[in-house]
Amino acid sequence: MTQTGASETAKDASASVVAQHAATLKALPFSDTRDFEEASRGFLGTLENARITSAQGRVVWSLEPYGFLSEEKAPPTVVPGVYQVRGLDIANMTLIEGERGVIVVDTLTSIEGARAAMELYFQHRGKRTVAAVIFTHTHTDHWGGARGVLDDAALAGGNIPIIAPNLFMEHAVSENIIAGPAMLRRAQYQFGPFLAKGSRGQVDCGLGKSMAAGSVALLRPSDLIMTTGDKRTIDGLEFEFQMAPNSEAPAEMHFFVPRYKLLNLAENCTHNFHNLLPFRGADVRDALAWSKYLGEALQMWGGKADAMCGQHHWPVWGHERIDTMIRQQRDLYKFAHDQTIRLMNHGLTATEIAETIKLPASLDGAWHARGYYGHIRHNVKAIYQKYLGWYDANPVHLDPLPPVEAGKKYVEYMGGAEAILARAARDFEKGEFRFVAQAVSHLVFADPDNQAARALLADSFEQLGYAAESATWRNAYLFGAQELRQGMPKAPPRPPMPRETLAALRTEQLWDVLGVRLNGPKAEGKHIVLNWRFTDTNETFVLTLENCALTFIAGARAAAADASFTLARGVLDEVIAKQTTFPEAVTSGKINFTGDPTRLGELMTLMDEFARMFEIVEPRRVVVT
Ligand SMILES: [Zn+2]
Repeated sequence: MTQTGASETAKDASASVVAQHAATLKALPFSDTRDFEEASRGFLGTLENARITSAQGRVVWSLEPYGFLSEEKAPPTVVPGVYQVRGLDIANMTLIEGERGVIVVDTLTSIEGARAAMELYFQHRGKRTVAAVIFTHTHTDHWGGARGVLDDAALAGGNIPIIAPNLFMEHAVSENIIAGPAMLRRAQYQFGPFLAKGSRGQVDCGLGKSMAAGSVALLRPSDLIMTTGDKRTIDGLEFEFQMAPNSEAPAEMHFFVPRYKLLNLAENCTHNFHNLLPFRGADVRDALAWSKYLGEALQMWGGKADAMCGQHHWPVWGHERIDTMIRQQRDLYKFAHDQTIRLMNHGLTATEIAETIKLPASLDGAWHARGYYGHIRHNVKAIYQKYLGWYDANPVHLDPLPPVEAGKKYVEYMGGAEAILARAARDFEKGEFRFVAQAVSHLVFADPDNQAARALLADSFEQLGYAAESATWRNAYLFGAQELRQGMPKAPPRPPMPRETLAALRTEQLWDVLGVRLNGPKAEGKHIVLNWRFTDTNETFVLTLENCALTFIAGARAAAADASFTLARGVLDEVIAKQTTFPEAVTSGKINFTGDPTRLGELMTLMDEFARMFEIVEPRRVVVT
C-alpha cells in the first residue's frame, strides 16, 4: 500500500478545538483541586519511573514515556495500616495489614508488576507474610499478577485463602475468549498502545495510563463470597461484603473493614464515568443495577467510612466527601439510565439521544463524574442497546449496503471524489470535523488509495481526538488517523493461549472456542463424529460436525463415531498451548485412540486462524467468506 506523503505526522490542534478547550477551562470548577491533594496524600515512595522489566529484560511497565506530564506519583497510604500501590499498572493494588500479615486486594495485570508492587510495599513497611488475597472482580488487571504475590512456596502451604465473588471462575476468562481476536484488535483503538506518548498522542486511557504487558496467570479462588452481608475474619480483621454482579464486571463485590473504617467499592465508584460498553466490545453492563449497588452501599456504610478507595485512581477521605461521591455516582448511572429510556420511549434513536442528553449541572461539575473513560455520549448508546439492540426500527437501517458498496454509490451520488474533497476541505476549515469524517470515510471505502481522502480523514480524526474529553475517544480517533497515514502497525503473530488460561477453561468452553473457528463454507457436506474421554477430569463428549456446525453432547458416547480418543484434559491443553502436537502425544502414548484418527486431522483443516490485525478505518484487503 502506498503511504500518504503529505501528512504522516501528527498536527497541531485547530483554532476551533483550541477555542473549545478554552471554553471548557471556563465552564468547569478548576479551582476545586482536592483530587490532587487526595492523590498524593500519604505518599511513601516510588520506583524510578515506575519501570518494571521481565526476566528477559522486556519492559512490562514504565512511566518514563509519560515524563511529559511530570509529577507522576505512585504509592500512598490510605490510612495507617492500609496502603495502595498506584501507577505500576492500569489498576491498583491495595494492601491491608492484619494482625500478623498483609491482605492483598487485587494483584495487578502482570506477575512482574505484582512482584514489584510487593517489593515496594515491603521496602516501606517491612517484610510481612501474605495472609490472604482478595479479587474484587473478574477483569484481568485485577488478578493477572497473582503469582507475583503468591509464589510456589506460598501456594504449596495451601492455607492462604484466595477470596473472590461468586461465579468468579465462570467469568474471569470467558468474557474475552470467544470474541478474543476481535476484542484485542478493537482494544488497540481503546487504549492506544501503538500511539506515541505525548501531547499529540496517547496520554492516558481514563482508568490509568495504559495496558500493562508481562506474564499473566489465573489462580483459582478458594473462598467465594455468595451474598451481601457475608462476613469473614481475615488475619484478625473483620470484612463485610456486598455483592455487585453485572455491574462493571459480571462478578464483582465491595467490602468494608470496620477496624480501619475503610470502604472499597472495587471498580464501581471510580473518578470518572465508567464504561457501560467499552470500545473493545463486551456484554453490555447494567446501569440500573450499578446504580442500585451504589445506593445499597450508601445504605450499608454511609457515614461509617473514614476512607474510601477503589481499585483504580486515588482514595477519598471523610464521611461527607465519601458519601457525596457515592451519591453522585449512584445518580450518574441512574440519570443516564432513566433519561436514555425516557428519550427512547419518546422515539429518539441512540444517535439522537447522544445528541440530546446533557448531565445536570450538579453532576457535570463533579470531577469524578466526567467522561474520561466512558462518556455520556456513548454510554447512552449502550443503554439503548441493552434494551432495544442494534436496530433503530427504521427499515432503511435494516439491510443497508456495507461500507465499500455504499461508499462507491455515495461518491457517485455526491458528484465524485473531487467534489466531495472540495466541500469537505471547506467544512474542515469551519471545524465541522464530525461530518467531514463521515463524508470522507465513504470516499476512503470507495477508493482506499485516494491519498487526499486518507489525509483529510486522518486530519479530521486527529482534530476530533484533540477535542475529546474521553481518553478512549482520543485514542480511537488518533489511532484511526495514524493507521490512515502509516498503515496498520506490524504486530508479532498471536501467541498460543497460555496453559494457565486453558486450565481455567471448562472443556465445554474449549469446544465453543473451536466451534467459532470452523469455516462454514469449507465444511459444506462434511460429517464427522468423534468421541472424547478425559481421564483426569472424568468427562466424556461426542463432538459432531454436520450442517457446517460443530456441536457437542457432554456425558455421552456415540456408537457410530469415526474415532474415539482417550487422554488427559491436561494433554489437550498442552496441544492447544503448542507445547506438543497431537501426533507427538499419540506417539508418546499420552493419547490412545480407536477408529480413524485422520478424521480429526480433517476437522482441523476446516479451522480458521485469525490474523492479529485487520483493517478498521478502510476496506479489508483480505477477502473473508
Ligand atoms: Zn480494572
